[in-house]
Amino acid sequence: MKIKNFINGTYTNPMSYAWLDNYNPAIGKVYCQIPNSSEEDVELAYQAAEKAFPEWSQTTYEARSRILIKISELIESQLEQFALAESKDNGKPLHLAKSMDIPRAALNFRFFGQAITQFSSESHDSVGLDAINFTLRQPIGVVGCISPWNLPLYLFTWKIAPALAAGNCVVAKPSEITPMTAYLLGDICNEAGLPPGVLNIVHGEGRRAGQAIVAHPKIKAISFTGGTKTGAEIAKTAAPLFKKTSLELGGKNPNIIFGDCDYEDMLNTTVRASFANQGQICLCGSRIFVEASIYDKFKTDFIEKVKQLQVGHPSQSTTDVGAIVSKNHLNIILDYIEIAKTEGEILCGGNPVNTPNFENGYYLEPTVIEVKTNRCRINQEEIFGPVVTIMPFETAAEVVNMANDSNYGLSASVWTNDLKRCMRITRQLNVGIVWVNTWLLRDLRTPFGGMKASGLGREGGLESLRFFTETKNVCIKY
Ligand code: NAD
Repeated sequence: MKIKNFINGTYTNPMSYAWLDNYNPAIGKVYCQIPNSSEEDVELAYQAAEKAFPEWSQTTYEARSRILIKISELIESQLEQFALAESKDNGKPLHLAKSMDIPRAALNFRFFGQAITQFSSESHDSVGLDAINFTLRQPIGVVGCISPWNLPLYLFTWKIAPALAAGNCVVAKPSEITPMTAYLLGDICNEAGLPPGVLNIVHGEGRRAGQAIVAHPKIKAISFTGGTKTGAEIAKTAAPLFKKTSLELGGKNPNIIFGDCDYEDMLNTTVRASFANQGQICLCGSRIFVEASIYDKFKTDFIEKVKQLQVGHPSQSTTDVGAIVSKNHLNIILDYIEIAKTEGEILCGGNPVNTPNFENGYYLEPTVIEVKTNRCRINQEEIFGPVVTIMPFETAAEVVNMANDSNYGLSASVWTNDLKRCMRITRQLNVGIVWVNTWLLRDLRTPFGGMKASGLGREGGLESLRFFTETKNVCIKY
């Protein structure tokens, strides 16, 4: 099977007829091919978007909203098919794709379809100056959206939906490692009545198709989610072109556990925060710091629970940990586990798993490493797999220092029932998102994003709509 680009409402072959293999990580085999789109393909997509812009940008909020909500409903009506496609492409457990990825992709369209009807601009009555100012928030034009492989349709739509809701036309590229659900989205957009050219989807490698989107002189804004190194490259290309950029990058998130927390809730959530989606969520808590008073108990209980996790084929309902997304990524994680052997002690896991009947798939045991210091490579570098470290701490000041001693600053979890301590710590943490006594509880209206090497800007709710609009103030003297 060959996936095609979706340009001007039509599935289209790449102009240079270049193709990439796409693997099913659960069995380690190629199962389809995708276009490795070039500058010419991106130009074609841009032309379609530019042509569609005048009409789409003038379409009423109600009409845009209706189409986005229709897209949401159509995704929901094909939940099974989308979840299967996502799980096959990415290696994630099918039940996770069904309960998290695809419902959230549908919700992204519904949420921004509704949010745009509530988006308002400001006016300032300049009292004493006989003037009034009002602010327009107009669509930017043609914008680029580039997303990663870990939550394929979930993150792709998290960008596309607000961009379209705000009246922009889009040239979007999903990860070349997980292109399938973005491919399926084209048909749904047509069925929902999205006019041709409003959303264009090009597939291919980042350095080729992605770079062509970022470098395109007339694509005026780039919303990117992916690795920190890629984010830096994108910033370098986009800055001299004065493009608006939103960069959601990597993380090395601390999970801080105090002795007074609700222990069972903390333990169960910490297992999830460590290994959900094979630990391949930018928000996973990969550095676990535990107050010394409960460290030994935590270590015993945590390892017992982690050992119970079932590694297996993504389609099996008993599978907790599916396949790692690619052979290349599995090898990167295994290299870090080798480093861990010199920097700490592996308490459980650490080995590839030979899954019966799926011996060529990319499976790895959930891995827990005890470290003695936060200043080691496995605590400083993002591994992005089912690998966490644990270490004890004595005081709040010490753990805040260690949590902040990182290039990254995406999210943190804090487990305590001491309100005053919780308030002090949350103010001191240099991260964009703090969860207290929970993890990954999402309200789509809230600002989402990181500090330091975790990115620039915030997504979510009105933040996304503001990013995807150009602000113009008008001052009228009377
Ligand atoms: P990646 O940076 O390799 O790729 C992300 C996307 O960028 C892909 O579509 C890729 O093709 C494209 N790309 C690569 N090079 C490019 C270039 N030079 N110009 C333009 N586009 C280019 O990331 P990945 O491996 O797909 O995803 C994993 C990373 O994403 C992890 O670091 C993870 O933390 C991060 N992530 C962050 C968030 C967040 O919200 N902060 C969410 C999910 C994942």
